[in-house]
Amino acid sequence: MPGGGSARPPSERREALKEVLAQARSCERCSELAASRRTVVFGSGNADADLMFVGEAPGASEDEQGLPFVGRAGKLLDQLLAEIGMQRSEVFVCNTLKCRPPGNRDPLPVEIENCQEYLLRQVELIEPKVICTLGNFSTKLLRRDPTGITRLHGQSEVITLGRRAVRLYPIYHPAAALYTPRMLQTLREDFARLPELLAMPALEQPPPESFDATEPTAEEEEAPASGGGEDEQPAPQPDQLGLF
Ligand code: URA
Repeated sequence: MPGGGSARPPSERREALKEVLAQARSCERCSELAASRRTVVFGSGNADADLMFVGEAPGASEDEQGLPFVGRAGKLLDQLLAEIGMQRSEVFVCNTLKCRPPGNRDPLPVEIENCQEYLLRQVELIEPKVICTLGNFSTKLLRRDPTGITRLHGQSEVITLGRRAVRLYPIYHPAAALYTPRMLQTLREDFARLPELLAMPALEQPPPESFDATEPTAEEEEAPASGGGEDEQPAPQPDQLGLF
């Protein structure tokens, strides 16, 4: 839509996001992750945020609490946000994978592939102006390119994800910066540019009809797999929508 506006009101997009959350909670596409997870860590924050952060995958604390970035890396993220005058409730935070890889191993390519539909749906429904990828996994996935974060950090570019044109802004992962003071300094400098990116004019959005003639986007294909049988009840989950 011209001018960056949305055809769908925030309340409608939020309801649709809750449906995607319900689908993710019963997802069993990755059998190992589905068997070992305690919770599905969908994401948290403002469902109509201009700024979205995408990390790697939940760790042990996130898996336990059902919320992203609640450990040490999350504290650093909060601190960096505070330094630019923002707080967590204003942004949306999620991960490339919604389930914890056992032993905090790296996400496998097949897991990233299986899970990407949820992330693309989140982007489509939240409609962020800026997506800040944290580290290599989300950067490589959303750019569809293997170039690493060391070369790309701090450089924004306009990309189209599904039906949404966004400014992509890769930065170092806060977990990596925890142990490397120089990386933390770079991360801080890159973070300082976020207000300027958010203040840029809204991007021209592709007209909806242009998608009719092209091949279906990932999110138009079949709905994310739902592993639950009809009478199978999902495990109790924390209220990840609390901040929405
Ligand atoms: N916590 C998360 O939720 N994601 C990460 O990538 C790291 C820590």
